[in-house]
Amino acid sequence: MYLYNTLTHKVEEFLPNTPEVVKMYTCGPTVYHYAHIGNLRSYICEDILEKALKYTGYYVQRAMNITDVGHLTSDSDSGTDKMVNSAIQEKKSVLEIAAYYTEAFFKDCEALNIRKPDMISKATDNIDFYIEIIKELIKKDYAYESNGNIYFDITKLEDYYQLTNHNIDDMVVGVREGVEEDSGKRNQGDFVLWFTKSKFQDQELKWDSPFGVGYPGWHIECTGISIKTLGEYLDIHCGGIDNIFPHHTNEIAQSESYLGHKWCNYWFHVQHLNVKDAKMSKSKGNIITVNTLKEEGFNPLSYRFMCLNSHYRKILDFTYEALKSSENAYLKLLNKISMISEEGDFQDSAFNDYNEKFMTSLKDDLNTANALTVLYDVLKDDGINNYTKLKLIRSFDKVLGLNLISEYHDSEHPQHEEIMELIKKRAEYKENHKYTEADGIRDELAARGIELVDTREGTIYKIREVD
Ligand code: AMP
Ligand code: ZN
Repeated sequence: MYLYNTLTHKVEEFLPNTPEVVKMYTCGPTVYHYAHIGNLRSYICEDILEKALKYTGYYVQRAMNITDVGHLTSDSDSGTDKMVNSAIQEKKSVLEIAAYYTEAFFKDCEALNIRKPDMISKATDNIDFYIEIIKELIKKDYAYESNGNIYFDITKLEDYYQLTNHNIDDMVVGVREGVEEDSGKRNQGDFVLWFTKSKFQDQELKWDSPFGVGYPGWHIECTGISIKTLGEYLDIHCGGIDNIFPHHTNEIAQSESYLGHKWCNYWFHVQHLNVKDAKMSKSKGNIITVNTLKEEGFNPLSYRFMCLNSHYRKILDFTYEALKSSENAYLKLLNKISMISEEGDFQDSAFNDYNEKFMTSLKDDLNTANALTVLYDVLKDDGINNYTKLKLIRSFDKVLGLNLISEYHDSEHPQHEEIMELIKKRAEYKENHKYTEADGIRDELAARGIELVDTREGTIYKIREVD
């Protein structure tokens, strides 16, 4: 597998510390609001990475945090806590907000076929460990107290800016956003490990610590959770490119100073989803959620398909027109596949050839667009029989996650007529605002393993496949 490594600024062969075992960490969501489809682009690409690694023979252990404390409105430790703001706005407690949006996040992931990482840990569940790390950092003279807060002194490191390659534009986030700096810091770039004398009076969640009652900074949670769940040596760490600085830069600083050795060898970053030349973000007010997509009549997997057609290191410009044409192509693909009936004997050399091509695309810095081309080539190839084609499609879909086989549009399914009748009845109920009855039909079918998907072209159904 060859991947672009942000740490070395080039495409490199991916070689984990232990052959065939990959320890993978993903920065999870800040659960103060619904995830937008920009956030979810990052999670889709990370999901593809995990599945591609597994497909090409690795055993992957993956962990992810849930940020429910400490992430301020500016990534450079100023502004106010995003969770607290949301709780005040929605008149709920921080923990209620966190629980609600965490559930919503995983529901969105499910709709996009994003697998849940093996280990998930909330920032608030590991406070004792952050305290232990911070104590050690103070002892080793990497951290200091000032104005009641504990800071990391970035001048103690030889190459604090290695991840950004000293790119000046990336290093001045705080300055660019015009936020005021804490005068108590030794250096402008120093970052907070623990807030005690907080200027945020209404900070709801606080913990006792040797440094005073307070709460952890955002960056320390990923260092803590990663080390706790995956150990002292990490193979690959993922996130969106806006995480490179300061978040990931600070994670490296803390982790390696605490551990006393190199921590993570590969850094995988996903480019942004843009809307009209601006990054999709809540603060810019240009967000679209999975619920919005559903309300607009789109199948969420059409968005996954759209992401797979572009490279993870290229900006993806979102427009509804682009999504519409992705959906058309996706539904056309599903239709084509649904026409294939299982016949013929297994042709193993054809299977291996195409499978090899598919893997070669994935190993080429996760070239998902080329992997899709291999799929189209399979469909076009008259030299292989339907049985082998279906085997290949089913196999590729382990990585692509597009429900390629389980979506039915035609009359091949044995209960097709009956299902279509129920879909019609449900549509009538919905038209007459009888939502309980409509949901009843959905639930009845779900209990039989048949899931309904509402698209602009009408409702289709898919059969849940058991692996
Ligand atoms: P957050 O919930 O703000 O911590 O962000 C969750 C993930 O989404 C992080 O990995 C971010 O880097 C990523 N992200 C944020 N905005 C975008 C965007 N417009 N496009 C792609 N990824 C994004
Ligand atoms: Zn993180």
